[in-house]
Amino acid sequence: MLLEPRLVKLSTRTGVEVRRTLPNAKLRRIGAWVFVDHFGPTEQTDGMVVAAHPHTGLQTMTWLFAGKVEHRDSVGSVQVIEPGQVNLMTAGRGISHSELSQRGPISMHAAQLWIALPENARKITPSFQHIDVLPQLRFADARHATGSLLVGKLMGQRSPAVVHTPLVAAELNLPTGSVLTLPVDASFEHGILVVGGEALVNGERVGVTNLEFVAAGQGELRLESIGPEPLQLLLIGGEPFNEPIVMWWNFIARTHEEIVAMREAWNSYELADANGRFGALSDGSGATLFSTFADEVGGWIPAPELPNVVLRARL
Ligand code: MN
Repeated sequence: MLLEPRLVKLSTRTGVEVRRTLPNAKLRRIGAWVFVDHFGPTEQTDGMVVAAHPHTGLQTMTWLFAGKVEHRDSVGSVQVIEPGQVNLMTAGRGISHSELSQRGPISMHAAQLWIALPENARKITPSFQHIDVLPQLRFADARHATGSLLVGKLMGQRSPAVVHTPLVAAELNLPTGSVLTLPVDASFEHGILVVGGEALVNGERVGVTNLEFVAAGQGELRLESIGPEPLQLLLIGGEPFNEPIVMWWNFIARTHEEIVAMREAWNSYELADANGRFGALSDGSGATLFSTFADEVGGWIPAPELPNVVLRARL
């Protein structure tokens, strides 16, 4: 099933748009992957400028194809991420962070994904994991195809990324004309996000920025690079995630009441103390600063008004 993106404004600061393929009118999630944004390629100067905002009940995974972004968060992280590296932020009961494109690279091209945390992990202590060096994938049956394993297990390799449900994520690069039969976990459902070139996925044509969904029950995926440009894709997958969740703004919860409380906690952030739910951003010296965020972005993003309906948990 082919999932097409919708355009979403990333922030009011830059007006730059992302292409969002999950959640989608046709499908809400793939495993515990509940959110897939594809950003760029664009000029780095039009890159990511996202002021401090909160998350709950999820993990965010940032992956760059090109560019350089600085991440800061309320557990004290100050981390520049470059292509080939993973930033995995576990919001648990609550975290806040900002993101800022760095000067240097000419272009900016990225994906950001959210992972819903299961009931037994959704209120854990927030944390941040940066992975510099990832397992590299080599394929005998697809000459010159390469890959990096971001999350989970694939081809006998294992990523150090800490996740809380069975998941996989990998970047694969296939030169034009290359065909790859990839063995995958048959208990997983999968998604293939094409970020460059053009693919046939199990015979289905998938153009750039589209996400092809493959239901559970398949032990292998047939990937073909059919465009004039090399095929670059992000593979995601996981065991079907069967907990009803409420996703609203940057929060994942289980009930309307939880969302209301999270929103109020964040919007009263400047009045709370630094031990509040969302912590404080660090200046990098170990000191936590409160309400004056020590980053170049400055400020924070308040949560919008809630819709005038009761939010319902959905599968
Ligand atoms: Mn965020």
